[in-house]
Amino acid sequence: MEHTEFRVKAKEMVDYIADYLEGVGARRVYPAVQPGYLHALLPRAAPAQPEPWDRIMRDVDDVIMPGLVHWQSPHMHAYFGTPTSYPSIMGDFLSSALNVLCFSWASSPAGTELETIALNWVGKAIGMPDCFLNEKTGSLGGGVIQTTASEATLVSLLAARTRTLAALCKLEPQVEPTTFLGQLVGYCSDQAHSSVEKAGLIGMVHMRYIESDYKQSMRGDKLEEAIISDKAQGMIPFWVCATLGTTGTVAFDELREVGNVCQKYGSWLHVDAAYAGSAFICPEYRHWLDGVELADSFAFAPSKWFMVTFDCTAMWVKDTAGLQRSFNVNPLYLRHENEGKAIDYMHWQIPLSRRFRALKLWFVLRNFGISGIQDHIRTCIQRAQQFESLVLSDNKFEVPQSRVLSLVVFRLKGDNSHSERLLKVINSRGKIHVVPSSFKNKYVIRFCVISPKTTSQDILDAWNEIKLCAQDIIIDKIGADNSNIDRRKIHRGSLPIITELYSLQKFTF
Ligand SMILES: *Cc1c(COP(=O)(O)O)cnc(C)c1O
Repeated sequence: MEHTEFRVKAKEMVDYIADYLEGVGARRVYPAVQPGYLHALLPRAAPAQPEPWDRIMRDVDDVIMPGLVHWQSPHMHAYFGTPTSYPSIMGDFLSSALNVLCFSWASSPAGTELETIALNWVGKAIGMPDCFLNEKTGSLGGGVIQTTASEATLVSLLAARTRTLAALCKLEPQVEPTTFLGQLVGYCSDQAHSSVEKAGLIGMVHMRYIESDYKQSMRGDKLEEAIISDKAQGMIPFWVCATLGTTGTVAFDELREVGNVCQKYGSWLHVDAAYAGSAFICPEYRHWLDGVELADSFAFAPSKWFMVTFDCTAMWVKDTAGLQRSFNVNPLYLRHENEGKAIDYMHWQIPLSRRFRALKLWFVLRNFGISGIQDHIRTCIQRAQQFESLVLSDNKFEVPQSRVLSLVVFRLKGDNSHSERLLKVINSRGKIHVVPSSFKNKYVIRFCVISPKTTSQDILDAWNEIKLCAQDIIIDKIGADNSNIDRRKIHRGSLPIITELYSLQKFTF
């Protein structure tokens, strides 16, 4: 493809993208394909000769689109979604064209400096204390864009490991640092994301999962008990990961309590706020940040709720010099004359090379402004509130834990199997998409509102779809619980009347 063809085809692509995003709500959000479907549709080897662009795009329509989960759909309520936005798409588009690698300041000064500035902007906008920002020369704090929240967690664990091993070796200089590895132990709540466990696996350290309280929060006293008991066994507590906004139910660990324990025992505190961090742009949610100044590192994913295209995780550390000690290798070919005077982000992360991701973040911040992002967050939360009240108005359903931010967890009353079946029916119809989670042995369906495209009408439609999917399950349950009722007489038309009658008689599901 040469410049002339690109000018034409890329403009067509812009229309294709706008058409797609405008009309994505009309598609089924969850695909009806089986594993291996694409293998049956595409050749087994790459073409030997160039193919015309239009034929390639035809295949996108015919074979790729039917196999996608449409994450940009207003009916996508699974996981934590990842809404994109036009300014962000344009940032990524431009970044793909420039294709600069921002590993050192010298490798692309604007790439490095914009990243520092954008992260100072975001940090201030969500209420991060000054000690995490990089504004004054000589400031030890600073922000960096990591690929994912998982990677930020791993990076913090590795930095903490280096810090602890270095301190131990100072006390016993004749001993190899790896000697202590088997004694290191990290902590998180039993509600923490699986990426925390994975970081522990990769870092080859022991992990303890602290039992959360009735609000699914990790508390300081339970953490301290575990630390004391481990120390008594000769273990070395070195790292704690607190979660603000868990994936299952958006629970918040008690940050100040946890932070105080970390200070007392000299443990690195990392805060994983992957989803909820975006909400801190609204001052009314910043109370959950109380105690954040006690943390050593903090990460959230603007690619989750900030309308920044995946991938983009904002991470701040208080002692960037300490971070760099973990990742610093400096061969001659990467050196430059401004070393030490500028940031070289390659020392803040696992890979060497890095995309110019600050561009899309900067575009989003400027084009929406803080108020635009706040409006988006608040609207999602209102939609989730609307959904929660619809669920609460139906006595066959329950919300075992109240909505937090834009996540509602709900279930059919009674046995877990009813809700498991309901989830399968919902996803097999593909009109909306949801995933489950469970806590305290209760299977729940997560309903997350994260897209600026989800309207109030979409919420009503989603609720009607869920009620429709639940009908057969409810009919079966009434039949099973009441052998005196003729199963054949209960049919979909009579269901509202029958369930109404039974609810009057305090029939419980
Ligand atoms: C989504 C999520 C993660 C993982 O995010 P990735 O960016 O996919 O690694 C980690 N922690 C929490 C709390 C999350 O919600």
